[in-house]
Amino acid sequence: MNTPDPTSEKTPDQGHADTTHFGYREVPTAEKQKLVGEVFSSVASKYDLMNDAMSLGIHRVWKRYFVATAQVRKGDRVLDLAGGTGDIAALLRERVGNAGAASKGCVVLGDINGEMLRVGRDRMTNRGNVHGFEYVQCNAEALPFPDASFDLVTIAFGLRNVTDKDAALREMQRVLKVGGQARILEFSEVKADWFKPIYDFHSFKILPKLGKLFAGDSESYQYLAESIRQHPPQDALKAMMETAGFARCDYKNLSAGIVAIHTGYKV
Ligand code: SAM
Repeated sequence: MNTPDPTSEKTPDQGHADTTHFGYREVPTAEKQKLVGEVFSSVASKYDLMNDAMSLGIHRVWKRYFVATAQVRKGDRVLDLAGGTGDIAALLRERVGNAGAASKGCVVLGDINGEMLRVGRDRMTNRGNVHGFEYVQCNAEALPFPDASFDLVTIAFGLRNVTDKDAALREMQRVLKVGGQARILEFSEVKADWFKPIYDFHSFKILPKLGKLFAGDSESYQYLAESIRQHPPQDALKAMMETAGFARCDYKNLSAGIVAIHTGYKV
């Protein structure tokens, strides 16, 4: 397994100013967005199938818990960033209500990748989920929404892929209304030592093979495994949220820290 140079001065999430991480590769910062775009364009049509295969369906439990414990009410306007094929948006719509009537809530599904967004919209439409959604192609680092326009902002398995995570966190804070909550669901640092070798074996030996088998693409799933290791661990991400201006920041580990839910509020 390749591991990053532990003596390097770069921070785990951002790298040097003019270069950054793409998995374990150091790439020009300006190129990362394009490389991430290629990953998701390549896997878009098989993305949902792969999620089930990789996690044995556990990602559905994490996502249900993430939405079930969100601070959200009927009639709220919420933003699901890096929403991809819409798992979180569909669950959130159940909580905010159906926007068929003017007084009901709305979920805005924002994603930088047109193909992921297209797969998400088709999937939603095929399931009869027509009302209550807006689809916006946007970069989390520079959101095309006014200040204070959402009651809740979520990002699930998305922040890890964003080049400038600090900018994305600041934007999440900016578009929230006062009292609104930001929620981040992301892979994090596994806390059970006995489980780490099993997790590494699954990540670096099994995932790329599953990617090859189901999506015809092992490299994108090698990137997934590497990007998880490069993502800021729990306390570092909490500190980044505080720096971005969120109050009462906290996190909760799920499945021994395979994933964590971070929360923060705009005050
Ligand atoms: N949230 C969905 C879920 O939980 O299944 C999709 C997560 S998928 C692993 C990551 C998503 O982040 C992709 O759809 C990708 O296009 C999107 N993404 C990556 N960089 C982004 C950025 N800078 N701004 C917005 N979306 C981005």
